[in-house]
Amino acid sequence: MPIDPFTEQRRQMVEQQIRARGIRNERVLAAMEKVPRHVFVPEDARRMAYDDRPLPIGDGQTISQPYIVALMTDLLDPHIGDRILEIGAGSGYQAAILAELASEVITIERIPAVAARARRNLSAAGSRPADVIVADGTLGYPQKAPYQGILVTAGTPDVPPPLIGQLADGGRLVAPVGPHGIQELVRIVREGERIRRESHGGVVFVPLIGEHGWREDEE
Ligand code: SAH
Repeated sequence: MPIDPFTEQRRQMVEQQIRARGIRNERVLAAMEKVPRHVFVPEDARRMAYDDRPLPIGDGQTISQPYIVALMTDLLDPHIGDRILEIGAGSGYQAAILAELASEVITIERIPAVAARARRNLSAAGSRPADVIVADGTLGYPQKAPYQGILVTAGTPDVPPPLIGQLADGGRLVAPVGPHGIQELVRIVREGERIRRESHGGVVFVPLIGEHGWREDEE
């Protein structure tokens, strides 16, 4: 574990916000305790980095509440050996958590300035490698498909079909699905040709904008 001025705050975040709400996956809890979340938030918000809330990261985007990052990671259930695709790099924090748990992480971001900042944050945090790619993530990233896990971290009217197509057999996809303002956390599991879909409660995310998401003028 890195020793930094926030080590104790991070431990409390894991115990009081995440474990106390029922997340028992020790690998996820260890990753959340290890990755220095404060490095991924703007300098002037660092003292709030471990608070129980999302935070603005610039360009109208947000870093998710710690519990939601843990919940989505738990639902995705990444393992060593897995290749994981994230849609919506944002600060790069979720990608850093995934990189602790999987073998390969690719994260897509549509705003070039946000992607550049995610790369800087990942490197400043000394994170395990994650590829940050500027593109429309609603198309997925066919070059490296299939994926054992796909995590969408922006709200989408429905799960973009190309993402389901890029899911490996046994692969999991987690996405906030629904209208602006409130979405349902959906998990899709591919079992051969069968697609199983479950619901995991309400969440609030910024919109996924792209060919299979919202149109920019619907924002
Ligand atoms: N996972 C991030 C938070 C995501 S915020 C973190 O850990 O900090 C949602 C991000 O999705 C924003 O940065 C937004 O620009 C991006 N986004 C929205 N639509 C997208 C699309 N079609 N493809 C890729 N990124 C998109």
